[in-house]
Amino acid sequence: MNFIDLRSDTFTLPTDEMRQAMAAAEVGDDVYGEDPSINQLQERAAELMGKEAALFMASGTMSNLVAVLTHCQRGDEILMGDQGHMFWNESGGASALAGVQVRLVSNDEQGRLDPEEVRKSIRPRGNIHFPPTSLVCLENTHNRCSGGVQTPEDTKKVCDVAHAAGVKVHLDGARIFNAAVALEVPAKALTQDVDDVSFCLSKALSCPVGSLLCGSQEFIDQARRWRKMVGGGMRQAGVLAAAGLVALDTMIDRLADDHANARRLAQGLANIPGLRLDPEKMQTNIVIFEVDPAVTSGPDFIKALLQAGVKVTYPGLQQIRMVTHRHVTSQDVEEALARVARVARELRGARGRG
Ligand SMILES: *Cc1c(COP(=O)(O)O)cnc(C)c1O
Repeated sequence: MNFIDLRSDTFTLPTDEMRQAMAAAEVGDDVYGEDPSINQLQERAAELMGKEAALFMASGTMSNLVAVLTHCQRGDEILMGDQGHMFWNESGGASALAGVQVRLVSNDEQGRLDPEEVRKSIRPRGNIHFPPTSLVCLENTHNRCSGGVQTPEDTKKVCDVAHAAGVKVHLDGARIFNAAVALEVPAKALTQDVDDVSFCLSKALSCPVGSLLCGSQEFIDQARRWRKMVGGGMRQAGVLAAAGLVALDTMIDRLADDHANARRLAQGLANIPGLRLDPEKMQTNIVIFEVDPAVTSGPDFIKALLQAGVKVTYPGLQQIRMVTHRHVTSQDVEEALARVARVARELRGARGRG
């Protein structure tokens, strides 16, 4: 069976050019700051994000955790969206390891936060009963909100509210380049108002490993110690940075193809009876839809899709997620749609007889 793998853009494999760059990479001990390839990647990342400095990390989860450790004290409160990756998918690291209390504010369908709700959720200073609010966490694109995009204006509104109260803003920009390509703006237009931003090399940019945390020089100097503490001080990591440099040169513009494929996928899915989604809401490379419970349960639909050769994930009970990426062609999208339509038809038929 030739599977069409729509589980995640993390399944993208390094290109030949990346592997050659990795083999040829100049390296040194990065814990001593002496890996030339890492230093070059960090400079490049800082420049792209419009920040003073950057730090290479093992993963997006590590970048987000180190950002919280650097900005916050134990016993602080941090605000994040109720659909946030940092809340759902990072093993509770902010609470368990940084010792902060997480307070949720609502994400809208696109993953945005309401600046007014953020303003009301920031604790007044100087009351010893209250945990001090020290950080607001944003996410762009928004994973659980169908890859939703936040504009520079959306981001600025929340940053203005936070900064007026002396609260920092961290942006989880694991897929920041997807947002930049969708909006046709440079990535730094999306990061100019936040205090720091993390982004992933290992998602749609096709690198095997890596994420970068970017911010002021002072922030990055402090983050370096926290990274060491959580075991992220790597030695000849330049072999990984070499792939990252190729990714930043060759993998960003092509994200538009993934977005076009996701749009086509969403339009096709919307025409299949028993599936519910609004294709207009799918802005980047993530498509999330609901299966009508009258047709079947989410887990049973996924099993049937797997048997038909389509791999997907499920973010919620009746929800299915499909992600387009470099290894999914437009023909794959048509074939996936044909297979999904067949599965849905068979399940509807079985339900009709039963
Ligand atoms: C994937 C992802 C992360 C975490 O990245 P890992 O490298 O898998 O640890 C963080 N935030 C968002 C929005 C993500 O999609």
